[in-house]
Amino acid sequence: MKILVTGGAGFIGSALVRYIINNTNDSVVNVDKLTYAGNLESLIDVSGSPRYEFVHQDICNRQELDKILEEKRPDVIMHLAAESHVDRSIDGPSEFMQSNVLGTYSLLEAARNYWNGLGEKEREEFRFLHVSTDEVYGDLEGTEDLFTESTAYSPSSPYSASKAASDHLVRAWHRTYGLPALITNCSNNYGPYHFPEKLIPLMIINALEGKPLPVYGDGLQVRDWLFVEDHARALYKVVSQGGIGETYNIGGHNEKTNIYVVKYICELLEEFVPEKPKGVSSYVELIEHVKDRPGHDLRYAIDATKIGNDLGWTPEETFESGIRTTVEWYLNNKEWWERVRDGSYKGERLGVSV
Ligand code: NAD
Repeated sequence: MKILVTGGAGFIGSALVRYIINNTNDSVVNVDKLTYAGNLESLIDVSGSPRYEFVHQDICNRQELDKILEEKRPDVIMHLAAESHVDRSIDGPSEFMQSNVLGTYSLLEAARNYWNGLGEKEREEFRFLHVSTDEVYGDLEGTEDLFTESTAYSPSSPYSASKAASDHLVRAWHRTYGLPALITNCSNNYGPYHFPEKLIPLMIINALEGKPLPVYGDGLQVRDWLFVEDHARALYKVVSQGGIGETYNIGGHNEKTNIYVVKYICELLEEFVPEKPKGVSSYVELIEHVKDRPGHDLRYAIDATKIGNDLGWTPEETFESGIRTTVEWYLNNKEWWERVRDGSYKGERLGVSV
């Protein structure tokens, strides 16, 4: 297959591109705008492959998308490009509406136009996979319920509302125009190459530097954590074996409170880096409870039975094994995150001017 991946320079997108190049014979065209979250240095291991190609483009640019599709002629599209950080969506929702809603609309229209022009066999085999989040389902506070594929949408933040809107567009394009689309809704990911503003890398890096570990409210918010490489495998399974028009929930069966996650990271650091920054006697003492995020959902939890039964996917990592790998990765790849933090991953990045 030739796979066009949008957002392939992001956290999950880069894990997906690495997975495809390292584990299959498929080729990848990575279309990414390189926002602050796009980092071509996450792709260094695979960017030399003759099966990998980068195209610097905004998915909102319909004309350019048409040209890219016409020229590259992908067999499938895997759509991950989005603004993804909830706190940023609260501070400024505009970019989220632009990229997540209008960008998805623009990509759907370009895909529909391209798909309509394909020959019969290619049309039949073409797939459009839209990668979404469990946050579209809203909050499970006060229940023991799990999100299933038929749970009603009830997004709480500008981010999740924009993702919900994009999911609705994809379903409508499938139902109205017959576009062979599939949707995945996944829980919180973690792992290597995660941008340092997100909870897990932020805690690891702050602890190493003896800085406070800010935890929202009481820290009892529950998330179902999935190792990013398990997610990449699931996405590849869905795009190659999933049913047209189907939705698949993807989760790790790893419901943990935020405070558990932070304390567990502290424990691992005690083991890996017992020599702490000056004035710090234990990492856990760096935890600081800060004012809760507005509209903060208390609990998300995924029922991933369908993808297990229908496609035979289950996560390979437990939370404890995945977080160990992740902490070790951050300890061994200081240069990657230091270049993100000081901004040097931007600018004339690897020959791409941004
Ligand atoms: P990310 O923020 O790390 O990466 C997003 C990528 O998209 C970046 O490379 C960015 O440059 C690119 N991008 C943004 N706007 C673009 C535009 N208009 N045109 C082209 N490229 C653009 O995000 P992520 O965490 O890798 O998430 C990827 C997808 O998976 C998103 O759609 C997100 O909603 C979804 N998702 C994320 C999680 C999670 O825990 N991170 C969980 C479930 C689903």
